Amino acid sequence: MSLEKGSYERVIENLYDGLYFVNLDGIITYWNKAAEQISGFTASEVIGKSCSDNIITHVDGDGNKLCDGMCPLQTTIDDGKSREAELYIHHKDGHRIPVSVRVSTLTDNDGKVIGGIELFTDISNQSANELRVKELEKLALLDSLTQLANRNYIEREIQSRLDEKKRLNVPFGIFFIDIDNFKNFNDTYGHSVGDDVLKFIAKTFAVNTRPFDLYGRWGGEEFIGIIRNIKGQDLESLGNRLLLLVENSYIMHENEKLNVTISIGATLVNEDDTIFSLVKRADTLLYKSKKAGKNCLTYG
Ligand code: GH3
Ligand code: MG
Ligand code: MG
Repeated sequence: MSLEKGSYERVIENLYDGLYFVNLDGIITYWNKAAEQISGFTASEVIGKSCSDNIITHVDGDGNKLCDGMCPLQTTIDDGKSREAELYIHHKDGHRIPVSVRVSTLTDNDGKVIGGIELFTDISNQSANELRVKELEKLALLDSLTQLANRNYIEREIQSRLDEKKRLNVPFGIFFIDIDNFKNFNDTYGHSVGDDVLKFIAKTFAVNTRPFDLYGRWGGEEFIGIIRNIKGQDLESLGNRLLLLVENSYIMHENEKLNVTISIGATLVNEDDTIFSLVKRADTLLYKSKKAGKNCLTYG
C-alpha cells in the first residue's frame, strides 16, 4: 500500500510530539503543531530562522547553552549519528520546559544529508499541573498572578508534611527562594514586565516539579518549594538545578533578552520543627546566599 504524500504530512503535522526540520545552515524549514503547542512559537514565527535565534535555545541539566558548539542537531548533521538526550527548551513566555529529544539526519533520495530532524516530547508535569490548578482555583488556594499555591496553601501543606513526618517519619525539605535585585529590575523595566518575570519563574517551578512536591508564592518576589521524601544532598542538587534553569530563562522585551537570577535557602525538617521555625531557618539560609553574592544556594 502506498500512502499519498498528503496523508503522511497530515500524520506528522498532528503528532503528539514536537517535530521540526533544519537545513544544513541550521535554518528551520518545518515546525509541526505540537512544536507550536509545547514551545509557544508558531510555525510562521520560526520558519526561516535558526533555532539558536532566541527560539528554543536548548540548555542541558548543568545549564550549558548547547547553541554554543554543543547543538545535538548540528552534531548529528556533522557525524550522521542519531542521538537522544533530556534537555530544556525555552518557551516563548520565558520559562524552561524539560523535554526528551531525539535527533537524526534528514537525507534526500540519494542518501545525501540535507539537514536534521528533531522530535521532542514534553516531559514536564504539565497536564497533572493543569488539573491541580483547576481544583485549587475553586478553593481560593491559588495566587492569582502566578497560578501557584498561595501562602495559605503553603502553610497548610507544610503542616501536613510535619504531621506526616511525626506519624510516618517521612523526611522533607523546603526551599526559600527570592528573586535577586528585583526592585532594580522593576525600576528599570516597569512593574508589568516584572509581573511577566514572576509568571515565567513560577512556570519554571511548576513544570519542573515532581508530582508530590509543591511550589507556592510566599509573597512579593518570594517563593517556597516543599520537597517531599528527600535527602540533603538531593535537595541541594535539585535547588541548584532550579538556579540554573532560572538563570537560563528569559523573555524578549523590545528586542532585548531579559533575565533574572534567584537565591535559595534550603533545609531539611528537624524533629521539633514548626511551620515558623522551618520557614525561619530557610529564610536565614537565603539571607546567607544573598550575602554570598546571590544566584546561589545555601543548605543548612
Ligand atoms: P535582593 O536581591 O536583596 O532580594 O534585592 P531585591 O531588590 O529583590 O529586594 P527588595 O526586597 O528590596 O525588593 C523586592 C522587590 O520586589 C520590590 C518590588 O518592587 C518587587 N515586587 C514585589 N512584589 C511584586 C509584584 O507582585 N510584581 C512586581 N512586578 N514586583 C514585585
Ligand atoms: Mg524579597
Ligand atoms: Mg529579592
